Order: sequence, then structure tokens, then C-alpha cells
Amino acid sequence: MKEQLLELEKKALKELAAVGDPGGLEEFRVKYLGKKGLLTGFMKKVGALPPDERPGVGKMANFIKANLSEYIDQARGRMALKKEKRVSFFDVTLPGREPLRGHLHPITQVIREVCQIFSRMGFRIVKGPNVELDYYNFEALNIPKDHPARDMQDTFYISENVVLRTHTSPIQVRVMEAQQPPVSIIAPGKVYRRDSDVSHTPMFHQVEGLLVDRDVSFGDLKGTLTSFLHQMFGSDTALRFRPSFFPFTEPSAEVDIQCVMCGGEGCRTCSHTGWLEIIGAGMVDPEVYRFVNYDPEIFSGFAFGMGIERIAMLKYEIDDIQLFFKNDMRFLRQF
Ligand SMILES: [Zn+2]
Repeated sequence: MKEQLLELEKKALKELAAVGDPGGLEEFRVKYLGKKGLLTGFMKKVGALPPDERPGVGKMANFIKANLSEYIDQARGRMALKKEKRVSFFDVTLPGREPLRGHLHPITQVIREVCQIFSRMGFRIVKGPNVELDYYNFEALNIPKDHPARDMQDTFYISENVVLRTHTSPIQVRVMEAQQPPVSIIAPGKVYRRDSDVSHTPMFHQVEGLLVDRDVSFGDLKGTLTSFLHQMFGSDTALRFRPSFFPFTEPSAEVDIQCVMCGGEGCRTCSHTGWLEIIGAGMVDPEVYRFVNYDPEIFSGFAFGMGIERIAMLKYEIDDIQLFFKNDMRFLRQF
């Protein structure tokens, strides 16, 4: 009797391994464990056995029954899981979906390009605080409290003597205060003004440059900026220097490049002049040296500044500055 039971179990397990779907599983269950099942039939016969054999055979039959039930449940679980996976349409033969790759913001790209060009010319990259003392932002740049030049910039005041810097020029003063010449630095950063329309945003980026040494002339300024603009916009770009005014440079100049949109023919971007204003520059005013204890009899130098958004707009032919700050993926993906 025991041998027959073991034989039956062996046969059942072999059959179960070959069952592939829930229908087959149910057939299997009925065949062995149903009311007229093979194992059920065995168990009915236990009562007819001699009393000393009954407990051993009965125990064995119950054990096999419990095992088969357990295996059937497990197989049912596996089949349900398989079905679920099929429903999620995981098709390994489909081509993969390419993940989106990030890249640097166009403004960051332009800042890096500008810094690289000046680095190659020997300028050191420095940074300064966004929240600046009135002293560095205005006073030490020869813009005293009652100076009309302060009207040129609408300033965000944090307190009476603390501002969000309105230009990157205070970095010049901090560097000169910390070291004697020779100095040659390039300083990129965010600046803040109370201004917002198609061509202005309350925060934008500038790059400031400064070079102070013995015998630095306006010719050095012209040469440096000409080289920079030719590397940035192409070596055949025409430029011109116009006299201008800044409180911290004397003489001062504004640098124009030939309009990159129309090639100098005249268009909306250049207000039909054929020229685009791009850099403010000049020889450092001796008054500024007074604040940082440089001897203007020995040293001379030049400073310049430019707006990064303006350069990026010209370089990529973008007509709305707000686009840089909207984080619209359709716009950003183009760079
Ligand atoms: Zn033009």
C-alpha cells in the first residue's frame, strides 16, 4: 500500500510539472484530489486495512495530499504572475526608448566660452558676492552717494548699505584691494536691476575684465577686445570704438560690432544702423586707484564689461531675452 502511494505521488509530480495553463491545473486537481480523484480513492481504502497498518498509511496519504495542494497553489500563483506580465506589454523585441540627455544652459555655454577665450590670453577667472556692500558696488567705483550716475541703475536695496550688485564691477575693487599689480582677471556672474520687459530681466549675467600693470595703454585695450570679438564672432567681424562715459573709467569707450543679423546692411535688431553695441570699456580712472592704494603714477590699466545674454542672443539669433529664463525644454533642447 505504501509503495503504491509513493508511486502515485511520483506520477502526480511528473504530471504537474507538465501542466502549462490554469485549465490544465484544475484538471490535474480533480484527477488527484477531486471527490473521485486517485488520491481520494486511496484514502477511502485506508479504512479497510488491518488496524495496525491504518495509522501509517493514513498519515502518509494525508501528507501527500497536503503537499499536492501546496504545489497546485504555487503553480496557480506563478501562472497569475505570468499573465500579469503579459498584460503590461513587455515586449523585449521592441527597440529601446532613448533617455533624454541633459546639457549646459545656453547662458552657461556662453559664459564658459568667454572665460576660455580670456583664459587663453592669461586672464584669471574670479568670482564675487551677489549681495554686495554699497561701498564696492558704487562708492569705490567713483560713484558717490549723490552722484547722478546712480540714477542710471535701478538698484535692489537690502538695507541702506547693502545691495544686490548691479554690475560685476565691484569684483575689480575686491581683487585690487587684495593684491598689488600686475592684475589680470575675468569675472563672470549674475547681476540685478529693477527692470523687466522684452529686452530686460531683473537678473542677468555680466562678464567683467580688468588688467592693471606698468605701461598699459589704450592700444592694449583695443588689441585685447578686438582679439576677443574676432574669436567670439568670427575673424572677419568689423568693429568700432566710440567715445562714451563711465564713472570708473577715463577715457571710456563703447565697442560695437557689425550687425551679425544683417551683416551691416541695416535691420530691426541693429535699428537700421548696421552696428550693435556689445562692450563697455575704458582706462581705469585714477580715482579708483585711490580706493585700493595703487599708485597711478606707476600703474595703469583697463577694464571692460559685457552682458552675457546680449552675446548669446546675437550668437544664437534669439530676439526675446525672457526665453533664457522660462526653462522651456523645446527652447533649451536646441542648444
Ligand atoms: Zn542689422
